[in-house]
Amino acid sequence: MQTQDFIDLEDRYGVHNYHPLDVVVERASGVWIHDVEGKRYLDCLAAYSAVNQGHCHPEILKALTEQAGRVTLTSRAFRNEQLPLYLKELHELTGYEMALCMNSGTEAVESAIKIARKWGYTHKGIAKDAAEIIVCANNFHGRTITIVGFSTEEQYRDGFGPFPAGFRIVPFGDAEALREAITPNTCAFLVEPIQGEAGVLIPPDGYLHEAAAICKQNNVLFIADEIQSGLGRTGKLFAHMHERISPDMVIVGKALAGGFYPVSAVLASREILSVIGPGDHGSTFGGNPLACAVARASMRVLQEEQLAERSADLGELLLRKLKEFDAPCITEVRGRGLWVAVELNTEARPLCEALKDKGVLCKETHGNIIRIAPPLIITEEELLWAIDRFREVFSAAAAGTYGSAENAKPEPELATAHR
Ligand SMILES: *Cc1c(COP(=O)(O)O)cnc(C)c1O
Repeated sequence: MQTQDFIDLEDRYGVHNYHPLDVVVERASGVWIHDVEGKRYLDCLAAYSAVNQGHCHPEILKALTEQAGRVTLTSRAFRNEQLPLYLKELHELTGYEMALCMNSGTEAVESAIKIARKWGYTHKGIAKDAAEIIVCANNFHGRTITIVGFSTEEQYRDGFGPFPAGFRIVPFGDAEALREAITPNTCAFLVEPIQGEAGVLIPPDGYLHEAAAICKQNNVLFIADEIQSGLGRTGKLFAHMHERISPDMVIVGKALAGGFYPVSAVLASREILSVIGPGDHGSTFGGNPLACAVARASMRVLQEEQLAERSADLGELLLRKLKEFDAPCITEVRGRGLWVAVELNTEARPLCEALKDKGVLCKETHGNIIRIAPPLIITEEELLWAIDRFREVFSAAAAGTYGSAENAKPEPELATAHR
C-alpha cells in the first residue's frame, strides 16, 4: 500500500475530525519521523508536546515492554506495586503533596473542576450548586461537553449544547478583569500559563503573579493547566515557574508518559485533594501499573537528560534565529523555550505543506500561525538544519510562492483549522 491508499482507507472508515498533513508515518525515533515511502522528516510538533523526550525513547520503551510482560491493569479495586513508587517520584519531581491519577489531559481537567467545586462547598461554604469557576478567553482545556461549554471557539461549541453552568470567561492576561469577575461563589481560576492551542500566547510579565495574589486574597484556587506547557517545554519544569508562583493545583498530561501512553494527573496539597474520598471519583485505567511504569521512566528521562535546561538554551537560539528572518509574511515571532509561534499575514497551511516537502513537520493553528515545538532532545545541529528549512520556506512565501489559491487545499470549512 502507498500513501494515498492509507489516506483513502482512513477517510472512508474514520471520522474526519482532523485535517492532517498527508504524511503517513510508519516509524519514528528521537526527532525523526519516517513515512511509508521511506521519506524522513524532522518532527517540529512533538505530538503537541507529548513526546518531549523524543519518539520511542529507549529507556521508556524498556520500561513499557518490561511492565507489559508483568502486569498491565489491576483496576483500582486492587493495589499495584508501580503506583506508590510513581506517586512518590511525582511528588519528588514537582513538590506537590498528592496526585490524582487519570489518563487523558481532558479527564484531568474535568477532575480538577470537580475537586475545585467540592472544595468550594466543603471548605469555602459556597451554597449548593452555586460554585463558579473563572476561565480565560481563547482557552484550550479539552473537548468534553463541560470544557467546550466554556470555550470561546465557536466551532468547538457549535451543535453540542446545552452546556453546564458555573463558568465565567475573562480576557487572558488581564488581572483586573479577573479581580472584577470574582464573587463570593468563585471557587477557582483555571488558566494555561501560556496558551498553547491559541498560538503560544504569552501573557504580560507579572500577570500570573498578580493573578495568583488575587486568588489568594479572595480564597480562590489557582489552577494551572500545564498539560502542554509543563514538563520542560518552556525551559523550566512548569511554565508558571517563570513567575515564581505555586498554583494550588497543577494539571499535567502529555509528556508525563513520553508519548507512549495517555497518563495525566491533578497535583495539589493533601488538604485540597482530601475532598475526594472512596467512590467520589474514579477511572478504570487511571493509575494502572503500565501507565505508572511508563510515567516513571518518562520523568527519569526528563531529569537525567536535563530537558528543561536544553529547552531553555536551544529555545533562545531558535527564537533569535527566527527573529532575524527578513520575511515580510511574518508579523510576529514569540516563544518561550522550544515552544515558538510564528504569526503570518498569510495562510499557514500551504507553508506547512511546503515545510513537509522539505522534510520538516509542523502544523498550523488558527489559520495563520505556525507552532514550532520539536522534541526537547533535539540537538543544536538538527535545530539549525530545521531553521534553514524555515528560512527557505518563509522567504519563498514572502515572494508569493506559497499561499496562493492553487497551493491551498480547497476545504474552506477547515480554513481556520483546529489542530
Ligand atoms: C492537549 C491539552 C489538553 C487535553 O489533553 P488530551 O490529552 O488531549 O485530552 C488540555 N489542556 C491543554 C492545555 C492541552 O494542551
